[in-house]
Amino acid sequence: MKIHEYQAKELMGAYGIPVPSGTLALTADEAYEAAKNIGPCVIKAQIHSGGRGKGGGVKFAKTPEEAREIAEKMIGMTLVTKQTGAEGKVVHKVLVTEANDIKKEYYLSVTVDNANACLVIIGSGEGGTEIEEVSEKHPELIVTEKVSVYQGYHAYNGYEVARKMGIPAALTKDFVKILGNMVRMMMDKDCSLIEINPLVETADGKLLALDAKVNFDDSGLVRHPELEELRDIDEEDPKEYKASLYDLNYISLFGNIGCLVNGAGLAMATMDTINKFGGSPANFLDLGGSTTEDKVAAALEILMTDPHVEVIMINIFGGIVKCDLIASGIVSACGKLGLKVPMIVRLEGTNVDAGKKILAESGLNIIPAKDLADAAHKAVEAAKGGAK
Ligand code: ADP
Ligand code: MG
Repeated sequence: MKIHEYQAKELMGAYGIPVPSGTLALTADEAYEAAKNIGPCVIKAQIHSGGRGKGGGVKFAKTPEEAREIAEKMIGMTLVTKQTGAEGKVVHKVLVTEANDIKKEYYLSVTVDNANACLVIIGSGEGGTEIEEVSEKHPELIVTEKVSVYQGYHAYNGYEVARKMGIPAALTKDFVKILGNMVRMMMDKDCSLIEINPLVETADGKLLALDAKVNFDDSGLVRHPELEELRDIDEEDPKEYKASLYDLNYISLFGNIGCLVNGAGLAMATMDTINKFGGSPANFLDLGGSTTEDKVAAALEILMTDPHVEVIMINIFGGIVKCDLIASGIVSACGKLGLKVPMIVRLEGTNVDAGKKILAESGLNIIPAKDLADAAHKAVEAAKGGAK
């Protein structure tokens, strides 16, 4: 789960990480009022995406009137950044925050190193909006330090990173503390990423987190009911949100063949087979082991309402999951939304005959397949035919 910068800063502040003061504004008038209290300020679009500075989502205002003018234009605009994709994201709220006098910008983050089963600190003395370019062209300027989740963070981790990043001696002690607090928050809240870019050295010689990005591991959310209120549904992919409500393992991809499968391994094999026949899956979708008719129908609705899906391929190997239950879910979803794209169905396993009977008697124009290869082949052919 992602959260907004203003929320991330609030959380970081509670963990002793220095953040500038700021006020959230939903309207231009609110931005005006906030700016009256702050003085010279920065208006920052709150969307779940970075690259706002370059995209026009971070603007300076000297006076409250100017703040109002900027907020007026920013709220409601579709902000396109390098990270949003061409369709951009609509700005619903802005953060009005003090304008800081910056001496130097650093990059600092903590994330999970899956391959080494540990946390990793990533830092750079060349932080700011060009960090992607720095990491591409000058990887030697990116510092990494592994932190064991068993031994935890130690000050020497921080001193090592500070030295390599070129943190001035006078700020090193504060830096080591900030980093320690980031790791503490990471572990406490089951984050998958805490990123401060830029962490700045201000003209009056202090470290301050001017930007903040925090992502949580979705699998850890069950342990943190307090984080649920930070969720902003407006910012989430509606398909992935619906999938989360039904406990479906769903990931949106870039192709045009919508897949509905039971079991993560079979879902991977299905995607591989589609690729082998020259097609491209629109998603990964694993119904899971204990599914219900409602879950099947919800999963199909996600695929049927996705404009990128031109063909649907259902691949079920019934073990605990029964094929007749799947078939009833298919009939129910098609009855509700109408079957507008070719649907290839491969059913095998428990209650397969009952499942096939339900589909045959439904009168739906379903293309049956005898095995995975046959189903993938038919799906790819249908997709090629400009199925829609
Ligand atoms: P993004 O990463 O989405 O582009 P940032 O919050 O990092 O957004 O802002 C981009 C740049 O704008 C920063 O690198 C910094 O130079 C400048 N900036 C952001 N907030 C402030 C602020 N409060 N005071 C001064 N400069 C700021
Ligand atoms: Mg930033």
